[in-house]
Amino acid sequence: MSYAEVAVDFPLAQPRTFSYSIPPNISLSVGHAVWVPFGPRLVQGIVLALSEQAQVEETREIAEAIDAHPILFPRQVKLAQWIAERYLSSYFDAAALMLPPGFERRVLTYIQPAPNPSELAISSLTAQQQKLLSIIQKKGKIESGKLKKLAGKLGETDAILGQLLRKGLILRTQELERVKISPRLESRLKLAITPEKARETLPNLEKKQAKLLSFIVTEPGPLTLAEARQRLSFAPTTLQALVKQNLVVVEKTRIQRDPLAHRSFTTTTPLSLTAAQEEAWFQIRFELRRNTQKVFLLHGVTGSGKTEIYMRALAEAISLGKRAIVLVPEIALTPQTIDRFASRFPHRVAILHSKLSPGEQFDEWQRIKDGEFDVVIGSRGALFAPQPDLGLIVIDEEHEWTYKQEEQQPRYHARDVAIRLAELTNSVVILGSATPDLTSYYRAQRGEFQLLELHERISAGEPSPLPKVEVVDLRRELKEGNRSIFSRSLAKAIALALQAHEQVILFLNRRGTATFVQCRDCGFVMRCKRCDVTLTYHAAEDELVCHQCNYRTKPPDTCPNCLSRRIKFLGIGTQKVEEVVAKTFPGARVLRWDRDVTKEKHSHEKIMDGFMAHEADILIGTQMIAKGLDLPLVTLVGVINADIGLHFPDFHSSERTFQILAQVAGRSGRGKMGGKVVVQSYTPDHYAIVAAAKHDYASFYEQEIAFRRQQGNPPFSRLARLTYIHTNAARCQEEAQRIFRLLEQERDSQGLPNTTLIGPSPAFTQRVRGRYRYQIIIRSPDPLPLLAKLTLPQGWATDIDPVSLI
Ligand code: ADP
Ligand code: ZN
Ligand code: ZN
Repeated sequence: MSYAEVAVDFPLAQPRTFSYSIPPNISLSVGHAVWVPFGPRLVQGIVLALSEQAQVEETREIAEAIDAHPILFPRQVKLAQWIAERYLSSYFDAAALMLPPGFERRVLTYIQPAPNPSELAISSLTAQQQKLLSIIQKKGKIESGKLKKLAGKLGETDAILGQLLRKGLILRTQELERVKISPRLESRLKLAITPEKARETLPNLEKKQAKLLSFIVTEPGPLTLAEARQRLSFAPTTLQALVKQNLVVVEKTRIQRDPLAHRSFTTTTPLSLTAAQEEAWFQIRFELRRNTQKVFLLHGVTGSGKTEIYMRALAEAISLGKRAIVLVPEIALTPQTIDRFASRFPHRVAILHSKLSPGEQFDEWQRIKDGEFDVVIGSRGALFAPQPDLGLIVIDEEHEWTYKQEEQQPRYHARDVAIRLAELTNSVVILGSATPDLTSYYRAQRGEFQLLELHERISAGEPSPLPKVEVVDLRRELKEGNRSIFSRSLAKAIALALQAHEQVILFLNRRGTATFVQCRDCGFVMRCKRCDVTLTYHAAEDELVCHQCNYRTKPPDTCPNCLSRRIKFLGIGTQKVEEVVAKTFPGARVLRWDRDVTKEKHSHEKIMDGFMAHEADILIGTQMIAKGLDLPLVTLVGVINADIGLHFPDFHSSERTFQILAQVAGRSGRGKMGGKVVVQSYTPDHYAIVAAAKHDYASFYEQEIAFRRQQGNPPFSRLARLTYIHTNAARCQEEAQRIFRLLEQERDSQGLPNTTLIGPSPAFTQRVRGRYRYQIIIRSPDPLPLLAKLTLPQGWATDIDPVSLI
């Protein structure tokens, strides 16, 4: 093949490749990472296809192959193409999802002397030019940054380099920077001679050297350099001297940065399945053995034993000679979850997620590629791990919207990508949830996915009832004179649980002590000047914080608007709940779990282990505690305010509220003692709250799907969200209107009557970090044809099938 179609690392809003000719000395295949000229620069690229023909008449040459072997599997190349086309990103951005951690490198410029310099040119050099050239000749080949440092006060090194280059005395090349992350090596000290010989040598040695050598002689096991230096401080030269005399060798061994190194596991064996589990399991096993693509939606109430089924499926896949990827939401990547898998498959589980250090990620990635693990567990990006022999993909809590990448291109959804990946590899996909995404359930109803249902919770191997949920009307509490954040019912339930030495979870879907600060006289609310969102008060630091951009300021004494001193802190947050608990239940031991206290590495684990060990009675937390925890001592869950989130201007808000309430309620009563849930609300008759209180997914689904059909919202249409960002409000609006008109024209000329354009409108959080945002929503059976014809200018972001409109 003479030409390569290359995805180049250049900001393109569209999937397209560029043709390059392949020089005879380079042999390439699909999936190779290459170095190509693009405009005046060299950029990285990935070979997507090889052909005998180029798209254009004049092609440039591929400069270099970055690695000897292709960096992507053929299936990964195909998947990247699909992602770019489906989510309208560049091919390179899509392929970048699958590159090893730390792959992205800088371009470095190297300078070296030209092979046959002309005598004439040399004779005509200025003193400065001569000096620089002699440095280069001495060094042979040197990176230009280093050269500039060496050249010191030589003045305008760049200019002189240019002159030398024009005279043909030096060459300039560009190369990739060396990989930043590399395998971690450990140095070990070893005797190069027998201990007896070493002892004999001691008297002939200089004092310090003798001390070090005798230390090495007496050490029984392998001695690392770090350890030796810690226990017996010595200068590097002392060691070098011993090495020079052939008495000691320093060996470098590769060590793994193992993210599970600090935890230990006891191996567990499979449980015998309940009848309901067995029925679901048989269907999955049947498909696994058939070796074809198949998607299951495993809808099982919280605690119904879905995880047990995942593990059966994993064991089956392994016995068939295949490997698996398990996705869990980032915040559910708790030690508890990992332990469950790691103890069933000891030393066969790899972990990938963003909290790992780059070094840990790199090591895991390499080991996965080498086929060292049967199971890779991680957050959405783990889907792109180079797991060989893939046969099974599990997505736990498939309704979680963190499976959608929203912040950057490509804005993919891990569920849809997993289904495509399964097609490419003949794999089985298991989507599991107690509260399936409405669209997933709809697809299962239509037969696109096979629905498996587990209706009963398991406790001690027996079916057990879900906890009773009591909905408390907060309006009535107020009317009857109770101004506390705890209704009388919740307060009583907490007191009872504490008396019985049981545990309580209090759930609040936000953080900070007061949600906002308001002036009682004029109603002025403190907002972030840059983002326009309400500032949140944090009592611990006595600061107002913008949760969008992290802007911080002290709360004012007087109203900035009317100078009144009657400033009031309104709303509640986790810290406020903590304060009230301390006052109301002075003996209770309290733990708070929200983003503010979990920024540290391993802090999740500390909090969870502490709560599991019953070091606290009450756990107060935000949505993080709603996920996947199995806490048998918890007999009460209190939801402080169920209405939060119900009134956002987004058609997903009922679904989100239902999901979060059902999930939180599922944390209670997972042990023998049973449990109860108290949900406080100002709108207790809302169908999402009523259905969640009854653990009734079906009735929620029926009502919600009817609304969606009526309004033509997904799954009865698909959406695309176009967002434009600009620092100037007027320019932002103008550009949004201009594109809106273009879209209207395009829609009419293509004749797409079922396509609605909504907007342009300011986004819900209109300003972010001092920049304005406008959005256009396209609602259509398929938004891609309309967008394919339009190249959106810089500043626009496209989100196909967005999970949120705010
Ligand atoms: P889910 O993933 O649906 O929330 P889990 O798999 O966590 O449910 O199961 C809930 C609890 O029931 C766990 O403690 C689990 O060990 C236990 N369990 C699940 N299946 C069985 C079984 N067949 N026999 C006994 N205990 C089981
Ligand atoms: Zn005021
Ligand atoms: Zn801000």
